[in-house]
Amino acid sequence: MSVDDDPTVSRAIARDLRRRYGESYRIVRAESGAQALDALRQMKLRGDVVAVLLADYRMPEMSGLQFLEQAMDLYPAARRVLLTAYADTSAAIDAINVVDLDYYLLKPWDPPEEKLYPVLDAQLESWRSSDYRPVPETKLVGHRWSARSSEIREFLARNQVPYRWYSSESPEGQRLLTAAGVDAQSIPLVVAPDGTAMVAPSDAELAQRVGLRTSPSSDFYDLVVVGGGPAGLGAAVYGASEGLRTVLVERTATGGQAGQSSRIENYLGFPDGVSGAQLTERARRQAIKFGAELVTTRDVVGLEVNGAARTVRFADGNSIDAQTVILATGVSYRRLGADGIDSLTGRGVFYGSALTEAANCAGRDVYIVGGANSAGQAAVYLARSAQQVTLLVRGTSLESSMSHYLIEQIAAIDNITVRACCEVVEAHGADELEALTLRDCTTGQTSRVDAGWLFVFIGATPHTDWLDGTLTRDQYGFLLAGPDLGATPPGWNLDRSPFHLETSVPGVFVAGDARAESAKRVASAVGEGAMAVMLVHRYLEGL
Ligand SMILES: Cc1cc2nc3c(=O)[nH]c(=O)nc-3n(C[C@H](O)[C@H](O)[C@H](O)COP(=O)(O)OP(=O)(O)OC[C@H]3O[C@@H](n4cnc5c(N)ncnc54)[C@H](O)[C@@H]3O)c2cc1C
Repeated sequence: MSVDDDPTVSRAIARDLRRRYGESYRIVRAESGAQALDALRQMKLRGDVVAVLLADYRMPEMSGLQFLEQAMDLYPAARRVLLTAYADTSAAIDAINVVDLDYYLLKPWDPPEEKLYPVLDAQLESWRSSDYRPVPETKLVGHRWSARSSEIREFLARNQVPYRWYSSESPEGQRLLTAAGVDAQSIPLVVAPDGTAMVAPSDAELAQRVGLRTSPSSDFYDLVVVGGGPAGLGAAVYGASEGLRTVLVERTATGGQAGQSSRIENYLGFPDGVSGAQLTERARRQAIKFGAELVTTRDVVGLEVNGAARTVRFADGNSIDAQTVILATGVSYRRLGADGIDSLTGRGVFYGSALTEAANCAGRDVYIVGGANSAGQAAVYLARSAQQVTLLVRGTSLESSMSHYLIEQIAAIDNITVRACCEVVEAHGADELEALTLRDCTTGQTSRVDAGWLFVFIGATPHTDWLDGTLTRDQYGFLLAGPDLGATPPGWNLDRSPFHLETSVPGVFVAGDARAESAKRVASAVGEGAMAVMLVHRYLEGL
């Protein structure tokens, strides 16, 4: 970059630079310090790198020295060269210390082959040997205690968007904040690959800027899949690979619950386990390879039947039509509201994954929270391998919440203890769960117990509220399908019964955890996604 307030000199130097370096470098010319700084700020946000700054010493408003000093805040590694008249050489020499000047060049520089190029060749060589690598990907400036900063990190990671994280306290983080013209309080700052700066953007803004698809490309499809967890991704892969025009709509990031799992050990074909993020990334690539559209950050809030079309409505009021729909909206596990639990989740504290962890707690003491069947089944299952299983129940007994047969089974197993009127108030441990503080709800007394394993079964809520009144759900909100609906559900007007995963509306299917009595496993969710596509074909053949 060269800066000179005299347009003739400015053009002349840019011409000479272009002649020698134009093939390998971009030559940027400015006629004032302010204009040059503006260009540098934009380059910084775009992730461009600057090799050499060449500034005239005498410029009105902002001198060459003042410019170089400010430019240093943005590009400390760029080589700094001052252009001076002979009379100003002593000032230039003084400047060597002020702005850590690398060289001063005397005007005029003719012939450039002798006076300009050798100087710049040497400067460029020094610059190339320094760490000048560009950072073209998304940049995130945040703070480790800022909740939105962590959410954005997770959002980018779960969507497999390459990004670089800078603490707002680091020098480069501060440089980016300066370039964007925002203060350290205005975090997180996200700089998209095209240089656009966004302060605390929403997921939708972010998705749009970093190149994730946020809108469907068409308004009619053969198949709309709602939900991007294992069931939805499975349906998208099979739907698209079998020639259906398929779009998958996900409210946040693909992966669903499985995307949050650090290691899935029981998924077929991965004897050493696979992280949810890896599995999701592969499934996404596979779906895209077959031509499925993956739309993220779009919340589906309505489903309507319009003749043969099924209309899927988004939160912003827009909608798309399809011949068929697969609902794969999954569930959220209710979280245990005790201190210290969140940071130990996956590190001794587990939600709904007793089967996967059972082998790891062989010979250990295990605690389970919950008084319903899921907690009871987990207790029976874990008691086979664990040394001692303690079931912590908030109610006075299991009778009101658990099936009788399970209560009898539990009573007959020696190494299961039931502690009624008991709740977890705190989880302790630095890297993994080490102990729990329990409170007796009748006396209010607390006690601390050593614990390495805590399984939480306090219920899962399916994401199906928006389907109330449109589809038949069970008492907990899970979608009923196939034989669970009976031969002719209310409002059913076909002369056949619903197909296996078909809901109470023909052509609308459910797969995965959102379905009543589903297995709540990654493999079964993927399997149901594939099976639902097979039933979609059967439905389309009958139209
Ligand atoms: C921490 C953890 C660890 C686990 N570990 C294992 C394991 O090791 N092995 C195993 O077999 N199982 C495991 N499970 C269970 C497994 O992850 C689930 O059974 C599986 O993810 C269910 O897949 P799904 O596609 O049905 O639903 P989900 O994974 O819940 O995905 C549903 C998706 O739909 C989206 N969605 C919901 N509503 C809407 C809407 N209205 N519009 C748009 N999108 C919507 C959600 O954002 C979500 O991404 C684990 C679960 C958790 C939470």
